[in-house]
Amino acid sequence: MKVVDYINNSKKTIFSFEILPPLKGKGIEDICNGIDPLMEFKPPFINVTYHREDYEYKKMGDGLLKKVSIKKRPGTVGICAALMNKYKVDAIPHIICGGFTKEDTESALIDLKFLGIDNVLALRGDPLKNESSFVATKGGSKYAIDLIKQIDDMNNGQYLYEETKNSPANFCIGTAGYPEKHFEAMNLNSDLKHLKAKVDAGAEYIVTQLFYDNQKYFEFVKKCRSIGITVPIIPGLKPLTNLRHLSFIPKFFNTNFPEELSNELEKSKSNADVLKIGTEWAIQQSKELMDAGVPILHFYTMGKGEAVKNIAREIF
Ligand code: FAD
Repeated sequence: MKVVDYINNSKKTIFSFEILPPLKGKGIEDICNGIDPLMEFKPPFINVTYHREDYEYKKMGDGLLKKVSIKKRPGTVGICAALMNKYKVDAIPHIICGGFTKEDTESALIDLKFLGIDNVLALRGDPLKNESSFVATKGGSKYAIDLIKQIDDMNNGQYLYEETKNSPANFCIGTAGYPEKHFEAMNLNSDLKHLKAKVDAGAEYIVTQLFYDNQKYFEFVKKCRSIGITVPIIPGLKPLTNLRHLSFIPKFFNTNFPEELSNELEKSKSNADVLKIGTEWAIQQSKELMDAGVPILHFYTMGKGEAVKNIAREIF
């Protein structure tokens, strides 16, 4: 079923979360350990993130270095099939521009269509570690909007280079939004203009980047509505669980901790301290968002199902 239909059919806030595919060589039990504790909260769907290739330099026999491409977390389509089969939920694969030609994207979407996938989250992807800015793959999409247009074309039966219409796909397309702006955007308003264009191109709902200040989300929603974005805007939450998060999250996700939270975090001396503060904060954030009537609370679990479970227990 489509995300927008879940929203329209539900009278209360829905619980959802996303998982990372396991590292290459790990088994399905690796993700099930993160998912099992959360199934009691009845998520109708589970998102599966996509991670493009990394490059490493390997020493060859002659002493020279060779650049090799390594895919650390392969297998999104297989994981989606496994989740649908095991948990009887919808699986939502994340589809990115980076590393894909438009033909690759089309083939992946055809596979997902055969699998009975109803939703995709369409994203650009981040620059590779050795790139200062995102470089589109030759023959691929430069921005998420190009990907959304391609999926929307398929929804209308228009495949690449085909003159006749084909069997239409029926994907409900989600897109990313940034309450504190995307890190590359010139300002929030220009970012919002691009977000509006993605919605006009066919995105039916927005999932936000993680944030810790609900006011930023509420202001973001207000600004979206004022420029004519009417689709559901799903807040994304990531509970803080360890000391590393305190510098990594603001840097990597371009988000600020509100002062009330940072004052508490500054007192923490161990991962356990951060976990306690992070859990309490996420519970308060979730309660306020639910009171405001958000359609879905979407959690970034990053494999830490237990931390999210302790929050969900308090609110669902
Ligand atoms: P875009 O919408 O293309 O925007 C990228 C930047 O370009 C923005 O600054 C925007 O303002 C600007 N822009 C857009 N259109 C134009 C234009 N026409 N002209 C000029 N500028 C423009 N990454 C992964 O690799 N895998 C995942 O699974 C994944 N899941 C995510 C899930 C969520 C909910 C979110 C919020 C992010 C996720 N990401 C993921 C990260 C995402 O790929 C990065 O944030 C990426 O840098 C931007 O993706 P986007 O789809 O927002 O890009």
